[in-house]
Amino acid sequence: MSDTDKTNPLRLAMGTEKPLPFSIPTCDSCSKPAVVQQAYSGRVLCGEHLCQMNRKKISKELRKQLVLKGKGQKTNIFVAISGGKDSAVLLESLVDILGKRPDIEITAGCVDEGIEGYRPPSLECARRLCEKLGVRFLTVPYTELGFVEMDEVARRLPMVTQQNKSASKMPCAYCGVFRRQGINHLAQLANADVIALGHNLDDMAQTVMMNITNGDLERTIRLAPHTARPAEGMAPRIVPLRWIPEQEIHLMAVHKELEIHHEECPHAQGALRWRTRDIVADLERDSPGTRHGLLKMADQIKSMRAQLDEAIGKSSSPMPNPTSCPTCGEMTSSATECKACQMKVDLGIV
Ligand code: SF4
Ligand SMILES: [Zn+2]
Ligand SMILES: [Zn+2]
Repeated sequence: MSDTDKTNPLRLAMGTEKPLPFSIPTCDSCSKPAVVQQAYSGRVLCGEHLCQMNRKKISKELRKQLVLKGKGQKTNIFVAISGGKDSAVLLESLVDILGKRPDIEITAGCVDEGIEGYRPPSLECARRLCEKLGVRFLTVPYTELGFVEMDEVARRLPMVTQQNKSASKMPCAYCGVFRRQGINHLAQLANADVIALGHNLDDMAQTVMMNITNGDLERTIRLAPHTARPAEGMAPRIVPLRWIPEQEIHLMAVHKELEIHHEECPHAQGALRWRTRDIVADLERDSPGTRHGLLKMADQIKSMRAQLDEAIGKSSSPMPNPTSCPTCGEMTSSATECKACQMKVDLGIV
């Protein structure tokens, strides 16, 4: 038996001297069993070294994305959490990397969309994570923001789409818009200078892919992080996990023993993102590095726009500057009322 075999926990657990029908690869930094083989980088890593590597990536992103107020002033970071793995790893990492700094205050919060069987247990997970990490926790239900619960949105949708053919048929289209307002509301309560979101590499690559297929250049340019182009009147969003694949975030959450909620939202099925998720995953399998490529391309487009704006001395975006919605006061780039207010009308809320 080789040294590697002797330290293989699976073999020890099975108490067998016979060769196993398969072998578990070992970490390329130590002799522990690996939990991941990164096809995009060639690295093979155990849980501990995966966490170490990704901690460095998160720190590097924070140095690039997070602009502190400086001059003895405190920077308030609001972390949008959901009880799921991504935002749990994000919050734990931010507390680990920045938590002891006297010039940084971290607050976390979760929007309650009103989804029976899904939101109550995940909200509890989020609350307990904050308790464990010693972070202030905030929450707000959709009903308090003037919306209806998502279960009610889903119930009304068939009627809405029958009356208005241009209204979106997918619950997530409404939820995404309402949740953005919910996060802004919580960030204001926390007096936030920056909003941190738990988007991982897969989320970001899927978004870029959807923007490409929609021909939506402006949405790509407005993608977070907003460090270089903060929108007026809005706390800039940062995405420190953006280079870390979803699978690795999950492994990190398991290695760090973070309590997370695993269930999928019952309204998620059928959303365009699900189809894009499969396409991006297939491309990544056939051609490792595809997700990184999509994100790098979006970064290059953003950088080209910034250079153009600098050269001509003004914004070249065809989108108007955000103004406050005449109905609810939220910042919007729409010429009339904001998307949330339009959707409320579609849903018969007002
Ligand atoms: S899956 Fe869709 S409906 Fe469910 S919480 Fe997410 S955005 Fe909302
Ligand atoms: Zn290792
Ligand atoms: Zn509005």
